[in-house]
Amino acid sequence: MSSNNQVSISSIITELIGHLGQLPGIGPKTAERLAFHIIKAPESKIIELSKSLEKSKQMLTFCKICFIVTENDPCSICTNEYRDKSVLCIVHDSIDAYAIENTNSYTGTYHILNGSISPINGIGPQELTISNLIERINKSTPKEIIIATNPTIEGDATSTYIINQITNNEIKISRLAIGIPIGGDLDYTDNKTLTQAFNSRQSIR
Ligand SMILES: [Zn+2]
Repeated sequence: MSSNNQVSISSIITELIGHLGQLPGIGPKTAERLAFHIIKAPESKIIELSKSLEKSKQMLTFCKICFIVTENDPCSICTNEYRDKSVLCIVHDSIDAYAIENTNSYTGTYHILNGSISPINGIGPQELTISNLIERINKSTPKEIIIATNPTIEGDATSTYIINQITNNEIKISRLAIGIPIGGDLDYTDNKTLTQAFNSRQSIR
């Protein structure tokens, strides 16, 4: 028995709970529940899950054009002839593009920043894919850029920085605003709200 009166049933279970508890949004109680669910589940299911985890690390890469997580580089969005290459939507992470794709209402392309500017966490513009973005904009000159960064302090700072870097005044720039709660995350926004946010995006210049 340990000093805090807790009995460790098995170090293997403790280890599993520990790993699960490191996942985002998983608190200690949920980690415990998941661990015991895994232990009780059929072995074949768990082998499938672990193979899937392994595959997602080994076989996925980043698109060299838009930096989205993909199996094929360039990705299926960048190489799709039906996607509108004149519209570029800028998001923090692949999960945001995934959320937008799920609305089935956006037909343009993406640029994934791989995070947001956050001086407190030591993340500056050079840690993100902003220089690649500016190079891409200067080369392909899109007609419209939709900034879909989160409505947070970091998202605002990132948005402002990017807008200041775009020197071509011919390019229309807009930002998603309406519907997404202030301080909220794009990937937590439901499909309907996200579609509405797209349709009523606010023009910046
Ligand atoms: Zn791509």
